[in-house]
Amino acid sequence: MDQSKLNQLIETFFTCNRRQIGSIFNELLAAVEMEQRLPPGGLMSRNYETAQANPEIHTLPGNLKDARDAIFPYFWGTDGWSSKLHVENVKGPSNYASLIGALACLLKNPNLCTDTYSQRSNELEVKSITALANLVFYHTESPWGVFTMGGTISNMYGGRIGIERVLPGAMQRGLGEAKISGIVSEAAHYSNATLAGWLGLGTDNLRAVPTDDKLAMRLDLLESTLDALYGEGRRVAFVMATFGSTDAFGVDDVEAIRKIIDARAAAHNAPVPQLHVDAAVGWFFTVLNEYDVAANPFDLDAETLPVLEAVKRHARDLHYADSVTLDFHKLGWGHYPASAFIVNRREDLKYLYRAKSDVPYFAEADAQRDPAMFTLECSRPAIGPYAVMATLNGLGLIGCQMLAAHALEMARRLKAGLAKLKYCKVLNAETFGPSVVWWVLPKGRDAEDIFNRVQSGDLPAESRERYFAEIKRLFDKREAALDPEADARLSYTTSMGYCPNGVCLPAWKAVFMNPKSDDAVIGQILRSIEELV
Ligand SMILES: *Cc1c(COP(=O)(O)O)cnc(C)c1O
Repeated sequence: MDQSKLNQLIETFFTCNRRQIGSIFNELLAAVEMEQRLPPGGLMSRNYETAQANPEIHTLPGNLKDARDAIFPYFWGTDGWSSKLHVENVKGPSNYASLIGALACLLKNPNLCTDTYSQRSNELEVKSITALANLVFYHTESPWGVFTMGGTISNMYGGRIGIERVLPGAMQRGLGEAKISGIVSEAAHYSNATLAGWLGLGTDNLRAVPTDDKLAMRLDLLESTLDALYGEGRRVAFVMATFGSTDAFGVDDVEAIRKIIDARAAAHNAPVPQLHVDAAVGWFFTVLNEYDVAANPFDLDAETLPVLEAVKRHARDLHYADSVTLDFHKLGWGHYPASAFIVNRREDLKYLYRAKSDVPYFAEADAQRDPAMFTLECSRPAIGPYAVMATLNGLGLIGCQMLAAHALEMARRLKAGLAKLKYCKVLNAETFGPSVVWWVLPKGRDAEDIFNRVQSGDLPAESRERYFAEIKRLFDKREAALDPEADARLSYTTSMGYCPNGVCLPAWKAVFMNPKSDDAVIGQILRSIEELV
């Protein structure tokens, strides 16, 4: 080995050179500042054509600027979603307190698998999980949990516990001949189908209970679905309630679901299914639990206050859940991945525990504090805990409340503006949350009347499809005429979650997850619609 070359390599890539790293970081930050002055969207076009043909690896050792140059075009070609015109989906800009946390994490690069490899970073995970558990469960004795790669995986943990509850030993022996089902609502996220498939339950055995027009799981149908499944001799592993559906922000009645599953399981002499709440998006509104609506210290609109009351009422029901999923990389504005899976009672993790003999290379593992004893993942990043604690303590509870209330106020104002247009119909008028889903029909049409006829089922399928085509055509027309400097980016969903008589409703969609989106953005959305039709 040429020792001097090796030393140079080590000096360049394994020794912290603050000046060099700092100056490259300054260049990246300058690019971010520059991007923030530009309209949102495609800063550079993609070049997928040769991405695979030309993977390019340098031959000779280089330096940190080579590292920069290798990624810069892709960095510059990626929109950081800082623009207030981004309202198209459940994605916001990341916040800079989270950046401080995430960078600190990356500088040490802890592995949360066991305490041995991450020391105080594991402690930070315990702290952040407990802080989040206190928000979502309000009062809880022994919460515990872990950060995962995303809401999908957090939901999967809930499903996994459920299977073990109703079929003890499934972890070792598999599902065998057992007939197992899970239940979600029709407005639930598709990740539930993913986990049903990946857990071996099979997507066909996931029952989607229709929702009412407020996007909440129909309780009468939950009851009859449970009875039917038990009647067929099936075991029901879990009911996944949704606290804030992705498109329209439907919220299930967690307290009522708890009562129903306890009662139906008892009546059929079956173990009670895991009640997991998918609060991936909705959890953030629990920061408003203690907002004093009567005193209204933020001086919110009188019309927004009932929305806050609804949030508080629903959020209090979360403590009926056995476990929850929450994504800090959605509302929370944390860096990916920062999803948490939290159980209300730590003892429920027993369903996931491995024997020490199953993890030989963690011979020193301590079941009291080492997540590797029960996690799906082995190596686990610590971005989540760092992003969470940096953000919550940077913004403070009041700062979080302000952001939550602002999102609610913006969504409510867009709903109110749309409600004044006869050819528009807001489809989620009764849900709280940052999202608005609505129809735009040609001027002269009575959108409310058309909606009522779709809902009652007396509109012939042919006319219905014609109206739906008009809604899509107008959306495409706005997209084609969009002024990138002024017009918000909206999106289109082919099914917003409520399916009256089995008919899925398409909709225009806006989600207020950017704290900068303001009345000017809303005013321009409404103007662009009026000019369009
Ligand atoms: C986004 C979302 C998920 C999936 O979460 P990821 O972090 O994207 O994997 C699950 N459920 C709901 C309600 C969501 O909005």
